[in-house]
Parts: sequence; C-alpha cells; structure tokens
Amino acid sequence: MNGSMMQQPLLISSLLVHAERHHGEQEVVSRRVEGDIHRYTYRDMAARSRRMANALATLGVADSERVATLAWNGYRHMELYYAVSGSGAVLHTLNPRLHPDQLLYIVDHAEDALLFFDLTFLPLVEAIASRVKTVRRFVAMTDRAHMPASTKIPDLLCYEDLIDAENDRYVWPSFDENHASSLCYTSGTTGNPKGVLYSHRSTLLHTYAIALPDSLGCSSADAILPVVPMFHVNAWGLPYAACMTGSKLVFPGPGLDGKSLYELFESERVTVSAGVPTVWQGLLGYVEANDLRFSTMRRTVIGGSACPPAMMTAFQERYDVRVLHAWGMTEMSPVGTVAILKGRQLERSAEERFALQSKQGRAVFGVDMKIVGADGAELPWDGKTSGELMVRGPWVVSEYFKGEGGNPLVEDAAGHGWFPTGDVATIDADGFMQITDRSKDVIKSGGEWIGSIDLENIAMAHPKVAMAACIAAQHPKWDERPLLVVVKKPGAELERDELLSFYEGRIAKWWTPDDVVFVDAIPLGATGKMLKNRLREQYGRHLVE
Ligand code: ADP
Repeated sequence: MNGSMMQQPLLISSLLVHAERHHGEQEVVSRRVEGDIHRYTYRDMAARSRRMANALATLGVADSERVATLAWNGYRHMELYYAVSGSGAVLHTLNPRLHPDQLLYIVDHAEDALLFFDLTFLPLVEAIASRVKTVRRFVAMTDRAHMPASTKIPDLLCYEDLIDAENDRYVWPSFDENHASSLCYTSGTTGNPKGVLYSHRSTLLHTYAIALPDSLGCSSADAILPVVPMFHVNAWGLPYAACMTGSKLVFPGPGLDGKSLYELFESERVTVSAGVPTVWQGLLGYVEANDLRFSTMRRTVIGGSACPPAMMTAFQERYDVRVLHAWGMTEMSPVGTVAILKGRQLERSAEERFALQSKQGRAVFGVDMKIVGADGAELPWDGKTSGELMVRGPWVVSEYFKGEGGNPLVEDAAGHGWFPTGDVATIDADGFMQITDRSKDVIKSGGEWIGSIDLENIAMAHPKVAMAACIAAQHPKWDERPLLVVVKKPGAELERDELLSFYEGRIAKWWTPDDVVFVDAIPLGATGKMLKNRLREQYGRHLVE
C-alpha cells in the first residue's frame, strides 16, 4: 500500500520561489567586478532570474543543454544558478584557475552551448573562444557601460541587455526531480577532470542536509558569506541553502584577499562563512597584523583540505569564531561529514573536545560511510585502524558524466554500490571520521604508513611556519620517508633542526620528517589545495641525491 501524500518533484526553482515569497525583503549583497557594492533583495533576484530564464529561451537553449559560467561569487552568477537549472538546462560552473587547455577540454567534453563570464576573465575567454567546438554565444556578465570596447570574441552579448530585453513573467517548468541540474568537474589533481552531473533531487536533499543545525546550521538570522567559489562544487551548496532558509547572502566577488574579506565581514555583519584553509590563512594574517577583531562572525566552515589545528585554535581562542571542520568531495555534492560535537561530548575536557573537532567529523544524515582494508573487508570503528573510506547516499555520484572511466562503484555482499573516496581514514566508536591521508599521498616507510596530514599539522603549529606540505621522498633503505616543504612566515628565521626538534614528544620518533626544504611558495591547485604531486616531482629524489 502506498502512502497518500502529494507527489511533488524536488526542484531547484522551488527554493527561489520560497525565498521570494517568504524572505522577499532579505538582502543579497555583492562586491562587483566593476568595483562597487551592489545590493538588492531575494524578490529582485527572483524577478531577474525569471527574465534570464526568458533570455535563455530566446537564445534557443534546449532542455538539458549545458550553459557554462566563468564567474566569481556574485548576484548575476546566482541568477544563472536558478535561471539555468530552473528552466531545465544544466549549469556548468567552470573553474577559471584552470589552465586554458584544461578549460578547453572541459568545455568541449561538456558540450557547452553558451558561456557566461565575468569581465575579469575576458582574456581567458578570448584565448579559448575561437577553439571551443560547441559554444554558440558568449555573454559578458556586465552592463552596457562596462562592455569591452573591442574584443576578439565574435558577437559578444551583454548580460544586462539580455535582462532588459525580457519581462519577468516566467513559470518555472515542472519535470522529474531526477532531471540533471548542474555539472561540475573534479579539479583533476589525479588525471583528466571528470564531470559529476547533479540532479534536482540530489541538490535539494543535500540542501536540506547542510542546512540542519548539526550540519552547517543556516538560518534566516544569519548573514552568510561563501568565500568558497561558486565554481568549487556549487560553493558547497550555500547558494541553495541560503534560499531555503532565507539567510542574507554576501558575495565577495573577486576580493578574496584578507583586507577585502575582513571589510565585507564587518560592513555586512556577516555571521557565517566557508572556505578552504589557504584562504583563511590570508584573512588571519591580515587580522593579526592589524590587531583586529570580528564583531559579528560566529562560525566558519573549513574544508576542502585538512584544517590545521593551529588555525582552529586561532579562530576559536583569539577571535571567538567557531570552526566547523567539514569533509566532502565534488562526487558528494560535496558535504559528507561535519565535526560537530554530540550533546554528551560537550561534557568532555577541553582537550578532548578540541581533538574531536579537529577530526573531519560525523556523517550528515543521507551519507553512509565505512572504511575497508586492501581485501575490501570492513574495518572496525575504533579510531585507530585506518582504511580506505567508502561512501554511499542519494547525493553521491553513481557514474561520471558520459560514463567516463567506467563504473566507479564497488559492490558489497548485499549488492549495494559504494563510492571509493581515495581517502584513507579512521572512524571512532562515536562515528567521528578522521582523514589521515589521500591514498596517493600516504608515505610508505619500511612497509608502515605515515600520515602526511599529521606531520603538516605539527609544522603549521610552529609560530614561524606559514605553510607546510609533507611528501613522500624516495629513500634507499625505507623506500619512502617524509620530507617537509615549508614556507616561513614573512621575516621569520627558522632552521631545519629547530623545526625538526619541534616534533619531539608530539609524534612517534620514526615519523619525524627526514629533512626540510624551505621554499618561497607551495604551488596551489585550482581550488586552493597544495599540489603535492608537483612537489613530489620536484623534491621526490631529495633524499637520494
Ligand atoms: P579533487 O579531488 O579533484 O581535489 P575535490 O575538491 O572534490 O576534488 O576534493 C575532494 C578531496 O579533498 C577529498 O577526497 C579529500 O581528500 C580532500 N578533503 C576535502 N575536505 C577535507 C578535509 N576537511 N580534510 C582533509 N581532506 C579533505
């Protein structure tokens, strides 16, 4: 017997309809590429999204066609989030930090029909415009007054002209909730980028999950500033969760340096933010150097790579900003776990609470996880045994776009498919997961595994260290040994031995790195993560040469 409740598909457009109807006066504030601050309301945003949906129809965008964006976090990008997916097309957010050749590959692979871009990226688009195979029209996300005087891009369209030419009467179509909504390519730190095609259903379920109080905890009383880009796994879902909960939204545009972010946090009374550790380093550096305080910021979500405990301490103890350490991946929409203490854990000692918070956290409802050994057998949740982390759930990928790479899932005895994350982790009896490494970054020393993240976290706790990566370096006796690659804080004087002695008592002696290489900068990937494969190529033979 079926239940007798309404069948209503879970569609992204419903988030915007809700925001307009119930939070119409709520503000959306953006720092624009044009240089000024733009502000309007959810009501304005909904009306302009409908105009844009009409414009897409006028431009002949068909159902399921891909519409690409190369854009910062801003209100026009937000309008496209809703206009494109809401009308039945697929929003394809491109990462402008990729190499042009990689962008070309992705645009062609996705078969993008239109490409919208912020003016910052005009040179990048000019570099690829004549070579992309499927893009029919390019649209500059600006007004007539700021359109480039001359450009190599043929028949370049102007975003505000498209909006002005349409009216705001548009009825969002209804369709199957499994319809594709958006497309995001993995950042390709391992091989060619692969597309993850989200659906309206997966996006809506993920939105409910991240908005929960024991998750990212979004509310109408919050002002959310996603530093994480809208081209990095849909800004971790915040553009959707903000509409669901009616939170004020603040978009930083291209201003991601410490000063610009801090000013926006203060002037717009931001309460919640989210981003990768490398971004917070710039912000903390600025706040520290200028002896500033946050007057309204209460929480920040840190994920994408491991949050160094030293960063957590700085935020929490010095600035009274609670850190929510979260873990996820493009293949998971992206949120999988958040480190939020359970009620009875709040009674534990400060040290124990901090240790739990430093882990990647516990699964949000909807994500099932387990760790397995080399033979595929499930390993115990004892907080010590580590194995490959596998996940399943309604917002976890089941195959890559166009079947790229074959079936990625591993079947269990019950016939359920699990997605292998490529991360090595432990899970404790309370379900708190801790990543010790990515499987390809693990250091295998004399048959034993050494987790590079622990070693990086210790280096990062040293007051003279700005950034540290720990990589596997070839070793004649032990196969591999840990090698630290370190950027010193500006003006700091630090020697190898001083840094290595810092490990004494903090870690098993044989885990201590064999050597330290001091560098001016560590190469970062397109989503702000340290490119350890690049470091391995460069310094992998440091201990044998
Ligand atoms: P890519 O794998 O191409 O970099 P993603 O941005 O999806 O693409 O990265 C997902 C990976 O990032 C995870 O598999 C994990 O290795 C790492 N990661 C994400 N969050 C964390 C975290 N909080 N701690 C440690 N690693 C993390």
